[in-house]
Amino acid sequence: MDFANIQSAKYIGSFPDYKSCPEGRLPEYAFIGRSNVGKSSLINMLCGRKDLARTSKTPGKTRSINLFVIDGQWQIADLPGYGYARVSKTDRKRWQRMIEEYMLFRNNLVTAFVLIDLRHELQEIDRTFINWLGARQVPFTIIFTKADKIKESHLPRHIRRIEKALLEEWETLPPTLVTSSVRETGRQQLLEYIAELNARLQTE
Ligand code: GDP
Repeated sequence: MDFANIQSAKYIGSFPDYKSCPEGRLPEYAFIGRSNVGKSSLINMLCGRKDLARTSKTPGKTRSINLFVIDGQWQIADLPGYGYARVSKTDRKRWQRMIEEYMLFRNNLVTAFVLIDLRHELQEIDRTFINWLGARQVPFTIIFTKADKIKESHLPRHIRRIEKALLEEWETLPPTLVTSSVRETGRQQLLEYIAELNARLQTE
């Protein structure tokens, strides 16, 4: 059987806002979540590279949109995370504006992958962000991270706890995927999910 894989992942650059991003001719998938949720690890795991998303950790780049082109066919937008402890009000406002504009106006955005750490209950900041996406009808997919940190038999309980919290406000759930960057759990499913969406776009 042929496993979905990534042959090449190239860093395009870091951009302060969506307006500065090069015009998106390829389908783009945005990764976002609370700081420390495991976003860089997931992007690296997905691309089979140790330090691809490291770029976003270098000073000055943490607040930018980092773009990567994958196999010359689709793009990853590594977006700055939210919920950093020490961020000024001005910086938070700037972040909010940048993310909102990106989500609303980036015309090649296919779906936003919202990362949620499976170890915790749904955090207020995640709920607020998800509610905003839902209200604006921005397509999003939830990616649960760090599944290896949970005992296998407890996984469904953790997933249900978060889904239940979302269902308090929404009638339906978005698509969800369970991942672990340490064990490479969910890698195939995520790559296939992206491939399927890309294929669907081509036939539209
Ligand atoms: P980011 O701030 O969202 O980019 O998060 P990082 O990818 O830098 O990860 C934050 C911390 O969580 C690091 O210490 C990672 O080693 C750890 N981490 C990330 N993904 C996983 C995972 O799938 N399993 C476990 N056990 N730890 C993880």
